Amino acid sequence: MAELAGVVAEIAAEMAARVERGQVASYIPELSKVDPRHFGIAVVTMDGQSVEAGDADAAFSIQSISKVFTLTLALGARGDALWRRVGREPSGNPFNSIVQLEREHGIPRNPFINPGAIVVTDAILAGHAPREAIGSILRFIQFLADDDSIYIDQAVAKSERETGFRNFALANYMKSFGNLDHPPELTLGVYFHHCAIAMSCRQLASAGRFLANGGRHPATGRSVVSSERARRINAMMLMCGHYDGSGDFAFRVGLPGKSGVGGGILAIVPGKASIAVWAPGLNANGNSLLGSLALEKLARAMEWSIFGR
Ligand code: GLN
Repeated sequence: MAELAGVVAEIAAEMAARVERGQVASYIPELSKVDPRHFGIAVVTMDGQSVEAGDADAAFSIQSISKVFTLTLALGARGDALWRRVGREPSGNPFNSIVQLEREHGIPRNPFINPGAIVVTDAILAGHAPREAIGSILRFIQFLADDDSIYIDQAVAKSERETGFRNFALANYMKSFGNLDHPPELTLGVYFHHCAIAMSCRQLASAGRFLANGGRHPATGRSVVSSERARRINAMMLMCGHYDGSGDFAFRVGLPGKSGVGGGILAIVPGKASIAVWAPGLNANGNSLLGSLALEKLARAMEWSIFGR
């Protein structure tokens, strides 16, 4: 097996030099301002190494990666009853597709496509004011990462709200099926804010450690979720974390991963490592082009695929 620091440095140098970098998301105007030349990577291993390269300390919009943390919180609050409102199957459709929702009576396929994540957010909102729900999500992520400086980029949240017609359509549609407990604008207010959380690769890799560590927070040894729940969240990430590109990601990388349209990906090597990469240019499925490639190279060099060497 190769030596981690050398592999990471080599991948970062190669990614920095790539010409083909994909397209930065433009449907959220604030995200279209991000320079596609960025590339960052951070790896935290369960045996205590931490390796970074490139723009590993630059904050970016985590977008849908936040859905891993909201799913964890909602399962903690609601338990398995959550699965009555959202499925656990890959969607095979784009993250903001509406067609499947009609056929499946307002029950989204999984918690990582937009309608599924909106239902999860609605579950977190129960019994709270939107402001409190946003605060609890942010504090949970700060705790996981051991870093209180993680913040919500208000300009991104505003930009999403102003242009989120598709998400409003999805929320209204689910409301009509009785699968949304709160007014769509309240649930979406929370949703847009958690998508607008800004983190660096170093912070994101830290926040993902519990999923690589059987549900335990490595810094404090405290249990965040049971080992069974950690396994199941990893399974969801593998099957659904890259939308209609999930099969390709599993085929090429072989790790549970969650992408966001900000160009970040969180990938988990169970028992071994938590990895965050960031390259803002996306492929046709809305997943980071160079982020996926970097993870493919890293998993191969370190023999980290969950499917064996
Ligand atoms: N906030 C984004 C949206 O709702 C998240 C999508 C994503 O990262 N894939 O469209």
